[in-house]
Amino acid sequence: MRIDLHCHSTASDGTDTPAELVRNAAAAGLDVMALTDHDTTRGHAEAIGALPAGLTLVTGAELSCRVDGVSLHMLAYLFDPEEPALLAERELVRDDRVPRARGMVARLQELGVPVTWEQVERIAGDGSVGRPHVATALVELGVVPTVSDAFTQDWLADGGRAHVAKHETDPFEAIRLVKGAGGVTVFAHPGASKRGRTVPEAVIAEMATAGLDGIEVDHMDHDEATRARLRGLAADLGLLVTGSSDYHGSRKTCVLGEYTTDPEVYGEITRRATGAFPVPGTGGA
Ligand code: AMP
Ligand code: FE
Ligand code: FE
Ligand code: ZN
Repeated sequence: MRIDLHCHSTASDGTDTPAELVRNAAAAGLDVMALTDHDTTRGHAEAIGALPAGLTLVTGAELSCRVDGVSLHMLAYLFDPEEPALLAERELVRDDRVPRARGMVARLQELGVPVTWEQVERIAGDGSVGRPHVATALVELGVVPTVSDAFTQDWLADGGRAHVAKHETDPFEAIRLVKGAGGVTVFAHPGASKRGRTVPEAVIAEMATAGLDGIEVDHMDHDEATRARLRGLAADLGLLVTGSSDYHGSRKTCVLGEYTTDPEVYGEITRRATGAFPVPGTGGA
């Protein structure tokens, strides 16, 4: 069983449509794939409609959070997408991405970059708009060679010259909301230090006490030492350990199934969830 629990589509900052994504996941030999777009579930219906036989879809989202000034991502799986409290918070974060992206365009213009909101809007399409879309505009304009190169202090990294913060949920609130919607939470790439400051272990311990289910350990942004440390932390705190690609199509270098999750851990996630069930593929459209 090959299980990849963290993938993005054009519903946020991935480049595969949800239908392309599930087809690519099946072609990559995955048995289970989670669709975890940033702050939105809008790709779920298309993914389910196109789901190939042999691939099971885990519905989810990656929620933007912040604690003590540190941004983090919380993966949420198999929650009820209609549950009003979590839905309202998800929409608040997603909707705040628009004025925030416009703010980053304004900052870039002040820095002399001829980027426009129309360009970013075209790149984002109907996806929840984020820095990778702005970064793609910078690549188109020849300002930086790749999307990753836009994530520096010169441009869009946390605290960078053109960075604007967005509304982000307190992770303790996110854990509570996801539980209330019958879902399971996994702290995404908790040791991704190249993205900025990371959350201290003591705060992860508090999250575990507050009901966090697991942490993502096998991830491209974690080196071997970080993985070993996080595995030890998970054992100490009784947290599940996952691995996943964080696939973004052509916007990142990772490939589907680059890292995977143990079937036993996947089984435990599905046993804990009550908000939604994994969807087995029936052949798709
Ligand atoms: P946002 O949610 O708009 O703040 O943008 C965050 C997204 O930017 C993440 O989900 C990643 O897809 C991407 N990202 C963050 N840091 C980097 C980086 N160093 N290189 C490439 N992409 C990044
Ligand atoms: Fe992303
Ligand atoms: Fe993330
Ligand atoms: Zn992600």
